[in-house]
Amino acid sequence: MPRFAPVLALVFVATLHVPHAGALAQTAWAADIDTVRQAARLIPGRQPLRVNVLKFAESRRTKNFSVKGAPTAPSVQARTAFQVVYPDSYVMVDAGMDLQVHRFFGRGLEEPYDAAAAAQLERAVAGARLIVLTHEHGDHVAGVIRPANAATLAAKTLLTRAQLDVLRNTPQMPEIRLTDEAARRYVVVDYERHLPVAPGLVLIRAAGHTPGSQMVYVALESGREYLLVGDATWHMDGVRLVRGKDAPWVTEDEPAVLDQLRWLNALSRTAPQLAVVASHDDEQHAELVRAGLLSNRLELDGGRP
Ligand SMILES: [Zn+2]
Repeated sequence: MPRFAPVLALVFVATLHVPHAGALAQTAWAADIDTVRQAARLIPGRQPLRVNVLKFAESRRTKNFSVKGAPTAPSVQARTAFQVVYPDSYVMVDAGMDLQVHRFFGRGLEEPYDAAAAAQLERAVAGARLIVLTHEHGDHVAGVIRPANAATLAAKTLLTRAQLDVLRNTPQMPEIRLTDEAARRYVVVDYERHLPVAPGLVLIRAAGHTPGSQMVYVALESGREYLLVGDATWHMDGVRLVRGKDAPWVTEDEPAVLDQLRWLNALSRTAPQLAVVASHDDEQHAELVRAGLLSNRLELDGGRP
């Protein structure tokens, strides 16, 4: 029988190499909504009262770029920022961008830019108690990096380590690169799966669209819930059909994004009080405004419109 020993040893070695499967399992993206809900109750204080959205610009591309296999019909991508309103203050989710960064995205085309809305957003960002960012792309972050008051804004802007690293080393465009000096002014956090940052407000790590992507979970005092998913999808059909983008200029971790879309799809079927909201889906925002779940205006100066 000793002749078989080497064979058995080989089998054992082969088994030991299985950790590769474990490593794959570790890289799969996952989140648990009940753990997130629990985290939303960790920070004492009154929960938010409502969520507002403001569109300040548009990108006009055909829908097939947003959702793989969709028709090449025209589709409006709204450029937006969100405001989570508390009884005594508000948190901004994303910060918009100035006209110069908007033109970078326009690729030489004159896409709509609403200067009055952008000015309102700039005021809202200036008046925010806290600013968090769904990800480090220019249409979401330029509003805290490029204005004259950027140093003041940085002190109340929470950046994740991954967002900071990209903005310093490999920014989407030169206009939003952070210098070492500017980088030191931000509140920088690193977290494993989720992080409560205010009553009823939890960040969910969701690297995929970019390394620094995160979703923002909001639980209102009324019990209504929102999941602001940034650019995990550009159109809610991506969640409904579990289909990623088909945009050659975007470099995503596609398996991670598909894991996120599957999770969001399951949530949208099983949690009717939770609104999954995509940053750029103009049609969805209009529906949510009609349903009274979002207001399409920002409140300034401590809650007054
Ligand atoms: Zn975007």
